[in-house]
Amino acid sequence: MNIHEYQAKGVLREFGAPTPRGIAAFSVDEAVKAAEELGGPVWVVKAQIHAGGRGKAGSVKVVKSLEDVRQAAEAILGATLVTKQTGPEGRLVRRLYIEEGCDIASEFYLSALVDRGTSRIAFIVSTEGGMDIEEVAAKTPEKILTIDIDPACGFSGFHGREIAYELGLKGASIKQCVRLIGNLYRAVVEKDASLLEINPLVVTPQGDLTCLDAKMNFDSNALYRHEDIVALRDLDEEDPAEIEASKFDLNYIKLDGEIGCMVNGAGLAMATMDIIKLKGGSPANFLDVGGGASTEQVTAAFKIILSDPNVKGILVNIFGGIMRCDYIAAGIVAAAREVHLDKPLVVRLEGTNVDLGKQILSDSGLPIISADDLSDAAVKVVAAVGGVI
Ligand code: ADP
Ligand code: MG
Repeated sequence: MNIHEYQAKGVLREFGAPTPRGIAAFSVDEAVKAAEELGGPVWVVKAQIHAGGRGKAGSVKVVKSLEDVRQAAEAILGATLVTKQTGPEGRLVRRLYIEEGCDIASEFYLSALVDRGTSRIAFIVSTEGGMDIEEVAAKTPEKILTIDIDPACGFSGFHGREIAYELGLKGASIKQCVRLIGNLYRAVVEKDASLLEINPLVVTPQGDLTCLDAKMNFDSNALYRHEDIVALRDLDEEDPAEIEASKFDLNYIKLDGEIGCMVNGAGLAMATMDIIKLKGGSPANFLDVGGGASTEQVTAAFKIILSDPNVKGILVNIFGGIMRCDYIAAGIVAAAREVHLDKPLVVRLEGTNVDLGKQILSDSGLPIISADDLSDAAVKVVAAVGGVI
């Protein structure tokens, strides 16, 4: 789960990490009021969307009067913002963050994430902070330092000092850096964050460190123990179909192809998407209905897949291990009838009672195309949507 910059900064403050003062605003008047409260003389008006790259897209505005705060807020709020990370359709800006302006001597990049390779939390830092870390990684990877922290020992001062030296910090800034890294590590562990990114982390001319931007992602499997984080969820920033899927415990991720996929098991779902590509098609979604999908879940899954106007056909690929194939077939038939399915449907079933399952599909009178194996299923669905084989 993702949260906004201003919310992430709130979380970081709880752990003692320094950030500029700021107030969130949902209207232009609120933005001006927030600026009055902060007092100036320099403010930054920042669009709040679940995507970065705002600075380059002109939606982080440094201003020096209340009138300019108003103008910036009017320009940004309600606009559809297209950045490198939003995709071409962009994102509607519904919230702003009004922050005090900060004097910047240098900008660094800092992030912490769960590194699956080492099974540890890794800090990634670079002196090349600001807006284009992807380019730094591609062109000058030697300017990026990665330090992982052994969970058995936890954070120690030397981790912080190594980072401070890499960033070329001097004097009291080094101490601040050690304290900051320790606090950020605690924030990531205690809140079950999967990613924390501060870009830029800045040093002021006085040598103080502060987090000027903040992005946090949380492990959704751990949200049950973080009510405070769940309360920060902004459904406006999420895909409506994905929200609907989460109500039915379906793991659904929208993609941009034309073949809707309904599969049980994440591994099989990945393999299904791969083989669709291999046969010349393109998946419209990732959808794992889980091990013991009910008729309600299968129906909900059909509805969600069909709510995507790009979908031209559906491939159901289910392995009846825990669930019997005849149950699944009955569920598919009931669901297809309920949603008045009018797009080609290819079904590949395998496992317990597969023959009975296939019988149910063919007896249903529905135009279901039955497939024998994964490859056959992919070929048939790609042909059904008019792709090239
Ligand atoms: P994004 O990563 O989406 O572009 P940032 O929050 O990183 O947005 O802002 C972009 C740039 O704007 C920063 O690199 C920094 O130079 C400047 N900036 C952001 N917040 C402030 C602030 N409070 N004071 C001064 N400059 C800021
Ligand atoms: Mg940034």
